[in-house]
Amino acid sequence: MSDADRYRLQWAVERAVHEELRAQFGKGAVVMRSIGAGLSSNMPDPVDPVQGIDVAIRTVRQAERLLDRYVRQARALGRSWKQIGEALDLDMIDGDPAERAFEYVTAEPDRFDSRRMTWRCGSCDRLISDYGPYTGPSDSEEGHTDSCIRHRAEIAAQERLWAEIDEHDGEAVENEWRCQE
Ligand SMILES: [Zn+2]
Repeated sequence: MSDADRYRLQWAVERAVHEELRAQFGKGAVVMRSIGAGLSSNMPDPVDPVQGIDVAIRTVRQAERLLDRYVRQARALGRSWKQIGEALDLDMIDGDPAERAFEYVTAEPDRFDSRRMTWRCGSCDRLISDYGPYTGPSDSEEGHTDSCIRHRAEIAAQERLWAEIDEHDGEAVENEWRCQE
């Protein structure tokens, strides 16, 4: 994200907060206030910062609801946890971006339950329990129909990947054995 993109978004959020302040507390809820530090510039700000806090936290919670909805939609449309992790900008942090993404957007489960997220499959239209990117799709996604095209394709792709890994491991074992000879 460039600086210009960041400023545009910052202003868009501030405008939305100011609009909500005026709608809730009246036209005088936002005033021009000096930015201080010896500068003559003024900025629009809430007349009562506590009212500002009230609207800002509700804005944060609304953004979190959007994030939750978009993650479910992304999974419903077949996007991977890795892709979601990259969009969440979690790929810079230590660990697997797919696992970090899943842990970021799901709540800590209670001790009788497993961490999971539910979404409606865009292919078979069933409600899916998604237990995250730790195992293959056949174990981690519960609820697809037997004939779900998306689920079958994901399982086939996973099996191809595992077969490739096995093949490489086989070569490694063979090479080791040759070395020992
Ligand atoms: Zn499905």
